[in-house]
Amino acid sequence: MTRDWEAAALCAQADPEAWFPAKGEHAVTARGICRRCPVREPCLQDALADDEPSGIRGGLGPRERRRLKTRRSAAPATPCTPATATRRSPITNTREAVT
Ligand code: SF4
Repeated sequence: MTRDWEAAALCAQADPEAWFPAKGEHAVTARGICRRCPVREPCLQDALADDEPSGIRGGLGPRERRRLKTRRSAAPATPCTPATATRRSPITNTREAVT
């Protein structure tokens, strides 16, 4: 099934092998193209929805997608407001309330 966004996919103009790196490789070329791709978000959403088990999609590899999906499913449904927002201190790497 072809999805609407696929017509604008930058990877359609490149060597598909770059999106399937060998074990231990980081797919730097593919990730760089994904970063500039205008359909990165719908590509990533579809990969997450399909539990795509291999390759780089939306700039993320399979393990990164699994982690993102886990984080999103564990995130509370409450909206982020100034009262609930936190930020990480770059020095201590601990959370502190935004005031
Ligand atoms: S984000 Fe990457 S994998 Fe997805 S369509 Fe764009 S270039 Fe292809």
